[in-house]
Amino acid sequence: MTDVGAALRPPQKVSYSEWASNGQNFRLSGVASAATGRFRPWKFQRGILDAIGDPTIPRVSVIKSTRTGYTKSLIASIGAIADNDPGPIILLMPTDDDARGIMVDEVDPAFKESPKLRGLMRQGRFDGRNTLTQRSFLGGGSLKAIAAAAPRNLRRHTARYLFCDEVDGMKITKEGDPLKIAEKRTDSFPDRKIVMGSTPIDDAASIIIKRYNESDQRIFEIECPHCLDRWELLWEHIHFTPGDPDSAVAICQRCGCEVEEKYKPQMVENGEWRITRPEIKGHAGFRLNALISLFSNVSWRNLVEEWEKAKKNGPADEQVFTNTVLGQVWSSAIGYVTENVLMSRAENFGIQWDMEHSIWREDIPSDVAYITAGADVQADRIEVAFLGHSERNRFILGHHVVWGSPKLKSTWEQLYADLTTHWRHPLGGTISVSAACIDSGEGTMTQHVYDFCEGTQGEKIVAIKGDDGPRPALKASAGKKRRNRTATLYIVGVDGIKTDILTSLGSEITEPAAFRFSNTLQEEFYLQLNAERRVTNYKDGKPIIVFERIGKRRAEALDAVVYAIAAKYLLKIDYAARYRELTGAAKKNSLADAVARLHKR
Ligand SMILES: [Zn+2]
Repeated sequence: MTDVGAALRPPQKVSYSEWASNGQNFRLSGVASAATGRFRPWKFQRGILDAIGDPTIPRVSVIKSTRTGYTKSLIASIGAIADNDPGPIILLMPTDDDARGIMVDEVDPAFKESPKLRGLMRQGRFDGRNTLTQRSFLGGGSLKAIAAAAPRNLRRHTARYLFCDEVDGMKITKEGDPLKIAEKRTDSFPDRKIVMGSTPIDDAASIIIKRYNESDQRIFEIECPHCLDRWELLWEHIHFTPGDPDSAVAICQRCGCEVEEKYKPQMVENGEWRITRPEIKGHAGFRLNALISLFSNVSWRNLVEEWEKAKKNGPADEQVFTNTVLGQVWSSAIGYVTENVLMSRAENFGIQWDMEHSIWREDIPSDVAYITAGADVQADRIEVAFLGHSERNRFILGHHVVWGSPKLKSTWEQLYADLTTHWRHPLGGTISVSAACIDSGEGTMTQHVYDFCEGTQGEKIVAIKGDDGPRPALKASAGKKRRNRTATLYIVGVDGIKTDILTSLGSEITEPAAFRFSNTLQEEFYLQLNAERRVTNYKDGKPIIVFERIGKRRAEALDAVVYAIAAKYLLKIDYAARYRELTGAAKKNSLADAVARLHKR
């Protein structure tokens, strides 16, 4: 007997959280995540999934923090769409690497692992050019991962579902604001869905904060196990004794009692999303921080430990913690100082080539454990900044100019000799540059920089190119061996590092990551180091952070220091081990030895 009625009834709508929790539909893969098997979304994840699956909510915006399972929810939503209500999906990611990464590391494994989805995906059905980032589904629908850095790729596609991840990491390109272009591609679908998520970055330019403020502004309130009242758990509610992460407890904002971490699973499970602006319809906004994450490595104890470490490392690390763990913007209020103030702080240390006697002045503070270098390549010279790192401070040890055209081999030999010189360290051993970044951005010199860096492999001397906008401090570029490029190119996120420098220039030397200055530095160095100001501009209606030059100042010194800071990211820092090394036997290389080594290659 056939149930005629069943065929006539519309398919029963299942919420996305129910769909994703069913192991027959969706399973987590083992490739990119520690958790495999059935997906058991936490209470706050279920709220986000259900908003994405709710046809009455066209817009969903999520201020997220890392380790709250946001990407998993996104992938589960894509699966639910493919299975229940297929249509064209665009997944907009900041860069090409991100677009390929999410497809290969997240989407493909999840579809392979999930019984219901396994048969749904067809591969290689497109023009073959973009098979890495395009998938189509049986029964209609498709998924394309597109890089916001190349928004022209959007123009060929329309989408009913637009998922944008890490929107605060997206830059306006020559073609305009990628988010605006992407949204236009959904205009022809009355039942479209636009989901945006991001860890927030900077208070002046955050897109996700702006979107959240336009939404119904939901907050996740956990339940106190003692008074059963609810409140949103924030960082300031975690109390601990400094230096003792094990002492971390949450203070209930209702009854005032201390709540131990062991109650966290039940506090979260009994928690609720609360809409704080009920008058806003059709736009669900969520904000998350890592304090409610139930991953075992995200305990309050671990977060306190991370926080204390970030505090010690200075403002750049504090910002990363604030953005990625707390899901909050960072306010870069910079107290500018004049170059005269900086100059007055010069101290009696430094490394400097003494032309007259052909020897190095080598006065290195005893707590300098590592030296990094940054080189700015100009048509007739290479300017090098030597930066010393200790647990508390950054020492600008010297500003060194290698004269000569980068087209000449002798110029590079001299640079190599300088970068491999061993100086006497007060602890008894010797110290040399541990890592260096050489700018390849000056167009006509690019190939010379690659050739030089390729010849120094194993020395942590790398070719770099600066890029603006929200980017990591240092990242290897994906297109490794394009054309004549022989060495790996690293991209330096100059804006973040410049913000770090400008914030720290005003710091007292007792503060973490403060700069200290060698008395070998000339007035011109200070003028150049202090040559730019951080301002908020508007481009296409979108606020962006830019660095503006003061007057006609030059900035080679600033650039060289930026690159020297980036070079630190090539190193594994271990101060204790390093100090032991520096007390070891001296092995002094002369300049001649270094040049001989270069010739042997
Ligand atoms: Zn309470």
